[in-house]
Amino acid sequence: MDITKGYSIAYKGLKNGTHDFAFKVGGALFEAYGSAEIMGGDCDVEVKLDKSETQLVADVTIRGDVVVACDRCLEECRVPVDFEGRLLVKFSDEVREYDGEILWLLPGEDEVDLAQYIYESIVLSLPYQRVHPEGGCDPEMLRRFRIVSDKEFAEIEDRAGAEPDNTAWGKLAELKERMEAGPQDDEK
Ligand SMILES: [Zn+2]
Repeated sequence: MDITKGYSIAYKGLKNGTHDFAFKVGGALFEAYGSAEIMGGDCDVEVKLDKSETQLVADVTIRGDVVVACDRCLEECRVPVDFEGRLLVKFSDEVREYDGEILWLLPGEDEVDLAQYIYESIVLSLPYQRVHPEGGCDPEMLRRFRIVSDKEFAEIEDRAGAEPDNTAWGKLAELKERMEAGPQDDEK
């Protein structure tokens, strides 16, 4: 089933006046739109739809959170989503492009599909900087991204001692050794 079809409102049969709708947004919607930055999420969408003869007014509230990569440590981090917006739906015999405020439908249509509006609203509402709260970053990752001198590196290795080392540091040390050994000439 096409996940994006789950965000349509069949308005044709509705009386004029306001009607409430609720939707859930999970990882599948972000996947369907091929989002490169949102890896998952959990949001509640409420739509208050005001229908009149000539147009539909949808007041949309989106609350919840999405999972993105932290700008500081690159580990997964949840950022809150808190969006309120109004989408106007009008009708025209001509096919007209959605301009971010007005969604144009042909008079013969009977459903309005909100999937793209909801998806774009979530993406646009994300904060510019996406980081864990202070102290919430993965300390191991932070250390790895810092440039360490050979001396510091040796000290870290010493501290790790002779214990079997399956930590990220152990793997990094192994990688460094291999790089310093240079390319292997097995073929000769
Ligand atoms: Zn972080």
